[in-house]
Amino acid sequence: MAANISAIVLAIIFVLMSVLGGRLFCGKICPYGLLQDLLNKIPFPKKIRSFKGDIHLRHLKYILLVLMLVVNLFGYSTAPTNETNSFDAGKTIWWTVVTLISIVISRPACKYLCPVGLLLGWSNLFPFGQYKVNQDSCTQCGACLKVCPMDIKPYQSANHFECIQCGKCKKVCPSQAITTRF
Ligand code: SF4
Ligand code: SF4
Repeated sequence: MAANISAIVLAIIFVLMSVLGGRLFCGKICPYGLLQDLLNKIPFPKKIRSFKGDIHLRHLKYILLVLMLVVNLFGYSTAPTNETNSFDAGKTIWWTVVTLISIVISRPACKYLCPVGLLLGWSNLFPFGQYKVNQDSCTQCGACLKVCPMDIKPYQSANHFECIQCGKCKKVCPSQAITTRF
């Protein structure tokens, strides 16, 4: 019962956050997102922007979302046992590795794993904070694509559901072709 209530409360919080702020939360507020951005600034011989299988790997977060919902709806025992201790240790190692991957690939957790971002993605359909690209001013120079941490093409798909509304594309556009609605 408690698990059901917390799932409902979480759902209400997500809806409110989405309608009011969209994925602005991911781009500007989430501390884990900020940590990934900072790590990605560390110089590394080869930064990876995209790779074969990137698109498919992005579907992993859908599976995680379903798992998260199942765990929240049906609950699971958190009594400390040897199994849960080693599960927690495994989780720590896993997240440390994912976090360190941010040095090479920008925002790997947001792209491939985060179910929260996935839930917030639909909010990009709302007008709050939506991005608009003036196709008359856009010269398709690609400057926006180079800085996009989610590796989407802002000039082709403004308000893509993976856009985290970080505003980097808008800042670098030499033609001021990108604007926000509000
Ligand atoms: S930076 Fe501006 S002009 Fe260049 S492709 Fe992006 S939207 Fe178009
Ligand atoms: S499209 Fe622009 S605002 Fe959206 S994630 Fe990419 S750089 Fe940030």
